[in-house]
Amino acid sequence: MTAYPRVRFLLSANEPRQFPADAGAEVAVAGRSNAGKSSAINAITQRKALARTSKTPGATRLVNFFELEPGRRLVDLPGYGYAAVPGEMRRHWGNVIEAYLRGRQALEGAIVVMDIRHPLTGYDADMLALARSRSVPVHVLLTKSDKLGRGAARQALGRVRKAVGVGVTVQLFSALTGDGVAEARAALERLLSGRAVEEPPEKETPVGPADPTGEGKPGVGG
Ligand code: GDP
Repeated sequence: MTAYPRVRFLLSANEPRQFPADAGAEVAVAGRSNAGKSSAINAITQRKALARTSKTPGATRLVNFFELEPGRRLVDLPGYGYAAVPGEMRRHWGNVIEAYLRGRQALEGAIVVMDIRHPLTGYDADMLALARSRSVPVHVLLTKSDKLGRGAARQALGRVRKAVGVGVTVQLFSALTGDGVAEARAALERLLSGRAVEEPPEKETPVGPADPTGEGKPGVGG
């Protein structure tokens, strides 16, 4: 069964005013160009070419909105870092990304894609800082994990986890082998549902004689 049988490309926006109505839930996917973002989106949605995996810097392609299901969207934020892109265009890119990340009400979470061999670039740090400034939960994919041996990949995972600190989840990912795809999909679902951190299944609230005063609950502060 496909995870998102009705997933479809909605629109590509070059200016914030072209963004679709700011309602429902969105998860933004960001990453430096060539980090493996398009491959990750395709693997997670089980579509061969939903997000194009192209080496060509798209002059007109900026923020791409995909509808996973009605009211739930995946937003492909452009990576930058192409030497070929002129400064002016790069500034425009930055401004549009920032406008999106700062102002979007539907934004429930962000997935930041990093090449496991070159994690935590300046771009990644900017993304994490922007997300943190709005308390938007972040999940990091360390992509192309197949490029490293098992031990080296685990080490990189540990290093990045330590660097990003609490509140940011990190995982290994390979679009090539399929490693971590299910985990990434679960993280996407978690972000979309507004539950940043995986929580244990909700316990039944005790009713009646079990704890009539409610004093059994641990106090907060005080
Ligand atoms: P984007 O620019 O971030 O969207 O990156 P792409 O998804 O287009 O991938 C950039 C390059 O990395 C392409 O040549 C992909 O085939 C390659 N790539 C992407 N994901 C993986 C992966 O998991 N493993 C390996 N070995 N290569 C990958």
